[in-house]
Amino acid sequence: MIERRITKIVKGVTTIDGGGVNLKRIIASPELEMLDPFLLLDEFGSENPEDYIAGFPPHPHRGFETITYMLNGKLRHEDTAGNKGYLEDGSVQWMTAGKGVIHSEMPEQSDGLIRGFQLWLNLPKRKKMIEPSYKDIPCDKIPLMEFPSGSVKVISGKFNGLEGPGKPHTGMLYYDIFLKPNEDIRIPIENGWNGFCYVYEGKITCNKIMSKGHLGVLSTKGIFACNSENKDTRFLLIAGEPLNEPVARGGPFVMNTKSEVIQAFKDYHSGILD
Ligand code: FE
Repeated sequence: MIERRITKIVKGVTTIDGGGVNLKRIIASPELEMLDPFLLLDEFGSENPEDYIAGFPPHPHRGFETITYMLNGKLRHEDTAGNKGYLEDGSVQWMTAGKGVIHSEMPEQSDGLIRGFQLWLNLPKRKKMIEPSYKDIPCDKIPLMEFPSGSVKVISGKFNGLEGPGKPHTGMLYYDIFLKPNEDIRIPIENGWNGFCYVYEGKITCNKIMSKGHLGVLSTKGIFACNSENKDTRFLLIAGEPLNEPVARGGPFVMNTKSEVIQAFKDYHSGILD
């Protein structure tokens, strides 16, 4: 069986967003503008509250989904569609911005630590203007498959008969994988889907060695296979069906054409998203 290769390693850039949150932008960075259907991946993590406590005060989105996975720490959410949520350690927030919402995302630390990821998943043209929706997925509702060599947490997609609670509008999988030292794992991915792995603890080897903080873009056919080095290793494996549609970006709005982005700004400033 063919194994997917790492075609590119991306390290991301440190930046500041929201009210003054220090984070690492890995997708939507100069090295990797997007990986259809994924528009952005941020990692945030700090033991210093000054790096993140200003949070993300009210701001709009239109045209895609935001998936926030908190490894540690808490995040308080409120939006103009009337949703309120409180993410705790190990939980996921799945927000479909659709035709538009204004929301705030305010972090709180747990035991002196905050750490997590935010992924933006594009919506296909036919769904960009759907009603917004929101789902908080607590940690205990996310299936975990344990093996002698490690575990796979299934946030979205199907794995070995387990189905993740995150329900995207197009084909996608999102796994959080743990491997003990010197173990290997093989994971099927739909042929033709774009995918990547992001190592956040330890080191893995596929056709290339990837260390902590590296994102590896995968070739598009075959299974994903890797082995861990001599320490505990954790990484995200994320893949999705490419939309192959034009992408027009304007800050918090991602549409298909420039005029749709301009319209989104007009709608926001005229209060239509409130
Ligand atoms: Fe946001």
